Amino acid sequence: MSDHSISIVPRLSIYPDKEIKAKAILAWLVSLDIVKPTPSDCILSSNEGYPISQGAKNVSSEPDLLPFDLLTNGLEIITERHVFHTGQNGMEVLMCPNCKHDIANEDWDFLSEWSDNKSNNLTCPLCNIATDIHKFQFIPEWGFCNLGFTFWNWPGLKNSFINDFKQILGCDINVVYTSI
Ligand SMILES: [Zn+2]
Repeated sequence: MSDHSISIVPRLSIYPDKEIKAKAILAWLVSLDIVKPTPSDCILSSNEGYPISQGAKNVSSEPDLLPFDLLTNGLEIITERHVFHTGQNGMEVLMCPNCKHDIANEDWDFLSEWSDNKSNNLTCPLCNIATDIHKFQFIPEWGFCNLGFTFWNWPGLKNSFINDFKQILGCDINVVYTSI
């Protein structure tokens, strides 16, 4: 089976006090026994993540499909500027807020303006206007932030849990479904 993930990502290029918020979110998830407090090799990365725990059943929309029997089952907390892309789920539509054209089929080099940290904008290759990246419409959703929370191989999350996450982050979020 190929790996997949769900990432919760603030809709802000630069999240203020990201390290403090990352710790607060981890403490919240541990308090609900959603993940375990001790990091281990449970994510698809050279870093360590926080393994799934029993309370995950309370926040999953499909608890029977939770990855308790998989090695890759944990929470990865990213605190670096990162493009949370969808992997094989791709990009069907990328709508420029200025010219309203779909630029998903153009050369994706324009994304490097953001990923290389030159600015928080994308410059549309058709109308050549630079606009904040979060004003573009990505279908399916992508995320662009220096903070994000990726659950590896978890099935769907309950809307109530996603809403709680949003409240604690205090801003709009993107929920990014990635398939490797
Ligand atoms: Zn445009």
